[in-house]
Amino acid sequence: MKVLVPVKRVVDYNVKVRVKSDGTGVDIANVKMSMNPFDEIALEEAMRLKEAGKVTEVVAVSCGVTQCQETLRTGMAIGADRGILVETAVDLEPLAVAKLLKALADKEQPQLIILGKQAIDDDSNQTGQMLAALLGWPQATFASKVVLEDGKVTVTREVDGGLETLALTLPAIVTTDLRLNEPRYVTLPNIMKAKKKPLDVTKPEDLGVDVTPRLKTLKVVEPAKRSAGFKVPDVATLVAKLRTEAKVI
Ligand code: AMP
Repeated sequence: MKVLVPVKRVVDYNVKVRVKSDGTGVDIANVKMSMNPFDEIALEEAMRLKEAGKVTEVVAVSCGVTQCQETLRTGMAIGADRGILVETAVDLEPLAVAKLLKALADKEQPQLIILGKQAIDDDSNQTGQMLAALLGWPQATFASKVVLEDGKVTVTREVDGGLETLALTLPAIVTTDLRLNEPRYVTLPNIMKAKKKPLDVTKPEDLGVDVTPRLKTLKVVEPAKRSAGFKVPDVATLVAKLRTEAKVI
């Protein structure tokens, strides 16, 4: 059984992003890029299913610029058997990525696609849901537990006020939440091994997908700076300030 894991190259979560001075976007020149953390969790889960003997092949897929090959190599160092890059310089929106992944799913015929619940750069939280709709497959988003057996996947998901358990008939889409697992560290021998694994490069045109953006970013601005706080000597002063200055009571 084959599992597809889409992995996105994003600004590393430790980087403090800066808005470009002309307000057209975020400056990513000379900034450390990494695999989207939720996608590391997705890959870890696929590897655990493979190690448990329930999955035979794990394929990592990335859509974007040439440098996404580095993200795929990291994916293969984590354990993916091979990688596919859908190469394009176009700034991809979730619908375009979902269409590319649908075309790849038609070709590769995986039984399970595990995505991150969201990419930490655009925070869209849309691609998995759109992909499920395009494929007509069942979906379970925000998974905190995944059990695969007998042609179905049982997913525990975190919802407001508790946990929900869904049973999906394969093929299916799962998106990962933070508490699903703790991804393994990539070791040097595995980085070396990953260099020899197959990495195919294809283009959106080869898959018959138009990735032209449909959205236009009007302006990107930094959030307003928070003003410094101060200490109040007693409760009476606090209440007075809340009433007269903050006007919240
Ligand atoms: P988003 O809907 O943009 O928040 O992304 C949700 C998930 O879709 C990510 O965690 C990835 O698994 C996948 N994804 C989004 N964009 C890409 C991309 N360019 N390449 C590969 N996977 C992606």
